[in-house]
Amino acid sequence: MTYQPAPAELEQVACPACGIDNPTLRYDLSPYRVVQCRACGLSYLSPRLNEATMLRFYQDDKYFENGDVFYDSVLYWKKPPQVERVKINP
Ligand SMILES: [Zn+2]
Repeated sequence: MTYQPAPAELEQVACPACGIDNPTLRYDLSPYRVVQCRACGLSYLSPRLNEATMLRFYQDDKYFENGDVFYDSVLYWKKPPQVERVKINP
């Protein structure tokens, strides 16, 4: 089950890279949206959960144990990529 945030738990944000607030919609993942900055091209989430709400989830160990995580409507996030530690020889 995906967490459904209250409107007060969401915030609209300007581009975190250049600070300009002039995005175009890339993906509508209601209540979240992936938008792209028209000025610098960065794609980012807006609206997103506000800091207080994110901190509440990050402080819950279940968040890191395949619990009630966000964004599971995005298919490729359902199965996170496996990260393999590789030793690189110089
Ligand atoms: Zn930008």
